[in-house]
Amino acid sequence: MSALTDGDAYRGQALGEIHEAALALPNDGKVADYIPALATVDKARCGIAFATLDGEVHAAGDADIAFSIQSISKVFGLVLAMQRMGDGLWERVGMEPSGLPFNSIVQLEWEHGIPRNPFINAGAILVADTLVSHFSSSRLAFRSFVRRLAGSERCDVNDVVLASETRHGSRNAALAHLMKSFGNIEAEVEDVLAHYFFQCSLEMSCRELASSLLFLANRGVHPISDEHVITPRDAHRVNAILSTSGMYDQSGQFAFSVGLPAKSGVGGGIVAVVPGQGVISAWSPALNQHGNSTRALSMITGLAGRLGLSIF
Ligand code: GLN
Repeated sequence: MSALTDGDAYRGQALGEIHEAALALPNDGKVADYIPALATVDKARCGIAFATLDGEVHAAGDADIAFSIQSISKVFGLVLAMQRMGDGLWERVGMEPSGLPFNSIVQLEWEHGIPRNPFINAGAILVADTLVSHFSSSRLAFRSFVRRLAGSERCDVNDVVLASETRHGSRNAALAHLMKSFGNIEAEVEDVLAHYFFQCSLEMSCRELASSLLFLANRGVHPISDEHVITPRDAHRVNAILSTSGMYDQSGQFAFSVGLPAKSGVGGGIVAVVPGQGVISAWSPALNQHGNSTRALSMITGLAGRLGLSIF
């Protein structure tokens, strides 16, 4: 591990203070309960980690507790599909913001079963289809990929959350069947959904998430393992879609107030990429009306403002 520099000390102190400030705010918002197993999580949990390209990880609060990554898994899924599919992927999924809630169904019929982008549920289900069609066991391939990126064999699925998602997955099943009716899903819907629910049910800590996505801040190369995960062009593309669509129908406001490529999940996690510097990951389970964590949002907003991290 490298010696701590003034910059490191400053970042570490900022993280601690921002975490304290978040704890002092009223814990507004509601834990996701449309997946019943998620409703049992302690609403008071709150953590943040900032992994930097030199291998340091600054952390505060519950940064080592594994939580349900939910839609943050869409980033790993997209990257794995980009590695395997090449540009053909973009004939089956778009790259425009949807302006609608993450699980909305209306746009999909108007647009002939082609999801607006890979970060809404329909888009991630489409990406899951490409993985199921490509790997003999897409779920194991997905889990090994994430473990390798995180440098941690601990990352695993929570079986209770997985069962709960599967049991309460009618809306996602509707999205998958609608895309299948347009010929945009190749595998069996049941297998595609099994993969999608599996990846959403994966649990990781803020520290693991921030470290695993460092390649997005480093033009596609993971700075710890030196693995060339994706090309610089594809890293640019993932960050571009994260900037316009990663925070769902709050993406515009997030770009306006924070200015970083980011992805949220209904487990209460948010990751934000700081190109050339590192990755921030924050977690607190209570969500706002867009499905984004209120405290994670306030911590990332505070840190980006204080350290001047905006890409714009
Ligand atoms: N598993 C969740 C769902 O499909 C993921 C949504 C999210 O995190 N926004 O509804």
